[in-house]
Amino acid sequence: MNLEQILEKTKNIHLVAASKYTDFNTIKKFFDLGITDFGENQVQALSRKKQELDKENLNIKWHFIGNLQSNKINLLIKQKPILWQSCNGLKIAQAVNQRLDYKLDTLLEINSAKEKSKSGIDLNKAIEEYIQIQEECPKLNLCGVMSIGANEEDRNQIIKSFETTFKIYEKLQKYGAKICSMGMSNDFELAIKCGSNMVRLGSILFKN
Ligand SMILES: *Cc1c(COP(=O)(O)O)cnc(C)c1O
Repeated sequence: MNLEQILEKTKNIHLVAASKYTDFNTIKKFFDLGITDFGENQVQALSRKKQELDKENLNIKWHFIGNLQSNKINLLIKQKPILWQSCNGLKIAQAVNQRLDYKLDTLLEINSAKEKSKSGIDLNKAIEEYIQIQEECPKLNLCGVMSIGANEEDRNQIIKSFETTFKIYEKLQKYGAKICSMGMSNDFELAIKCGSNMVRLGSILFKN
């Protein structure tokens, strides 16, 4: 799939380029092609790339999509990301909330495939915890959910994990959820069919 086809398939939703595989020169190139949102899964890499690209005065919107260690919270907050997609529970939410001096748009990451290797909150706790974070963390603006699809060859399992996330998202709409971030290079078309309105694409963009 070339870039034009990817942009066509994602034209009605948000596209976030997961730029962990690439350096700031390539990010700049993609920015010039019209991609404005980039996601990093390590705080230090985000900080480094942002610093370089700020020199060029590019108005890049940075997303944080990785597991957040508590000793990296301050550095993340300093980056002022447009969206923290990977809040995976009340504890880290409270820790970030405590140190924020601005309001941070945030997604609750859900482990919808119930995979032990994956970060993200347990399915059955997602709604309860979402509401609790909203109540207890006023500096976080929870605006939806994020999930990584099942790590499976079996298409039906992947679809099932997306459907599960979407159902939770639907229930959370009355609590203000607007973003359902699911779909990566291998499964974003399925994710969009299941209701995703934000995809995070890495290898399909940067490894061609
Ligand atoms: C790397 C990454 C992606 C993109 O993965 P690809 O399969 O390369 O598209 C999406 N989401 C998260 C959380 C990631 O870490």
